[in-house]
Amino acid sequence: MSLDAFQETNDAMRGKGSYDLVVKGFRAISREKKKQNSVYPVMGIVTTVTNRNYQDLARLAEAAREFNPDIHIFNLGTYTNDNIIAAQRRFMKEKLDTDIDCLAGYNTGYNNGIDGKRLRAILENLHGRDYGHPVITVPTLNPDKVHTYYADLETPVRNHCIVPWCQANINYNGDVHFCADYPDYILGNIKERPFTEIYNGDRANRFRKVIHACEGGMFPGCLRCYQNMLFGKKIWGY
Ligand code: SF4
Repeated sequence: MSLDAFQETNDAMRGKGSYDLVVKGFRAISREKKKQNSVYPVMGIVTTVTNRNYQDLARLAEAAREFNPDIHIFNLGTYTNDNIIAAQRRFMKEKLDTDIDCLAGYNTGYNNGIDGKRLRAILENLHGRDYGHPVITVPTLNPDKVHTYYADLETPVRNHCIVPWCQANINYNGDVHFCADYPDYILGNIKERPFTEIYNGDRANRFRKVIHACEGGMFPGCLRCYQNMLFGKKIWGY
């Protein structure tokens, strides 16, 4: 479940009452797990770090003790800018004959003004405490590079995305695409063709060939793609 911060900050971002609703859900599931003496369902909190909540992460981590989550993930977030979007638009049109819309949704500016040193100290403090459940930060990043991650979006921290060779996403309408967050390039639709045919088809292979030929094995728009953060190759020093 997504929680962005402790109550006031979370509600300012997600809407009044949203914090209490999530907490109520956690408590209800915890009660049921106890009653059934079960470890399932696994419950996790995902907190996306932005310039609106980064100073408030410790209070949320502390409050989360009481919900008994199985894990608390601090996601450094997906961000982009006008230059990256323009480069990706040109690239996708030229190489894959595709007009893209999705990447622009990450051009929020919520990365602007994050003090890397301050965030580094906050994260180090979080990781140094025992909350009774694992606390992880994704992607794992050299603490000295936290500032670069937010302030210099055009500097890659991961490359060589392997997603097109190991996974695919199926949309609610049956469309299949590789990139979970940027579903502009559609490989096919499972209502029309079997999944394996789509996954091994011409459009899928064309995408793989194009990305394979790119410098660093990634498109211009992949720079802070969350999947690249998880499945890409870590660049030395980051
Ligand atoms: S890194 Fe690029 S190719 Fe890989 S999933 Fe993200 S957007 Fe798609």
